[in-house]
Amino acid sequence: MTPPVDAWSGAPPRVPLITTPTRLQPVDGPAPRQVFVKRDDENSPVFGGCKTRALEFVLGAARAAGATAVLTAGTAGSNHVAATSLHAGLLGFRVTALVLPQEPSALVARNLRLAAGAGARLEPVPAGVSVHPDRERHRVAVEELRDRGERVHVIPFGGADPVAGVAHALAGLELAEQARGLPGPLRVYLPAASTLTAAGVAAGLALSGLPFRVTAVDVVGSSSTTGPGLLGRARDVAALLGGPADAVRPEHVRHVGYAGAPYGVPDPDAERSAGLLRDAAGVEVDECYGAKAFHHLLTDVDDVDGTYLFWHTGNTRKAEKEVLGPVHPDLACYLG
Ligand SMILES: *Cc1c(COP(=O)(O)O)cnc(C)c1O
Repeated sequence: MTPPVDAWSGAPPRVPLITTPTRLQPVDGPAPRQVFVKRDDENSPVFGGCKTRALEFVLGAARAAGATAVLTAGTAGSNHVAATSLHAGLLGFRVTALVLPQEPSALVARNLRLAAGAGARLEPVPAGVSVHPDRERHRVAVEELRDRGERVHVIPFGGADPVAGVAHALAGLELAEQARGLPGPLRVYLPAASTLTAAGVAAGLALSGLPFRVTAVDVVGSSSTTGPGLLGRARDVAALLGGPADAVRPEHVRHVGYAGAPYGVPDPDAERSAGLLRDAAGVEVDECYGAKAFHHLLTDVDDVDGTYLFWHTGNTRKAEKEVLGPVHPDLACYLG
């Protein structure tokens, strides 16, 4: 067992944004047997979920560096851009986000409203222009902020900062404490894009010693075949926490593609599964992430023993502050 992060000398700086532990909700009805939902969507009333867990450390680093502004990037309807706009804004950072085009959808409109309502500057970037920190468009944005006297902290595209893995590993340790006593192995399902959330949760569970398997359901259809993959990423996080990297074993993690509708497009089967979850337990999931991962859980649930758990990574439909601020005219097309 690793020590709690606050007692750990390597603990990265952190700002408090969330209330934990989030509850484990038992749900009867949608599956032939009881499943549990880890209500991480409830970790903040402002904008809860996995992005906010990560921001505790990502913005902790920004504050420790003495930044006055944060610059990040994402797609137009990115949950990360919305969450950063809200939380960094409340902490007093000025927020700029470079946003790439995306298929218009209800989720995109919601997130743009949230980000603009929080006062973030959203700068549309045409498709095909790189927003990588080494590239011209990004350098220009940094220079503009510096010219205005800002001290800039850069958050990578989509919030995929390695320090986010620490946040998710702590979440995995939190779950391990709650799941002791449940029939093992613990079978965790969650929607995945960069897989940082899944990797961190798997690292935390592995360090706890609990028998488990994490199934990361890729909902963006861009799962990279290069780089360390989910297992490698989980091992990197375990090492970051001072644990043995090989505590995470190949059988602990599974990265699967979502077979139905592509990213951002609601899938009829997934929507039906989301309806079952809503009727059984009043749990709302969004159409792009949660519905698809929960549907995947339901298609697996008969297979084997253990305890099935859906990790609720967030639901922007619940966000409190849906206020529309000024939006760049090039982004108005998304607002519907
Ligand atoms: C970003 C996000 C994910 C995916 O998280 P990754 O760490 O990028 O895999 C899943 N669900 C929701 C609601 C998200 O906002």
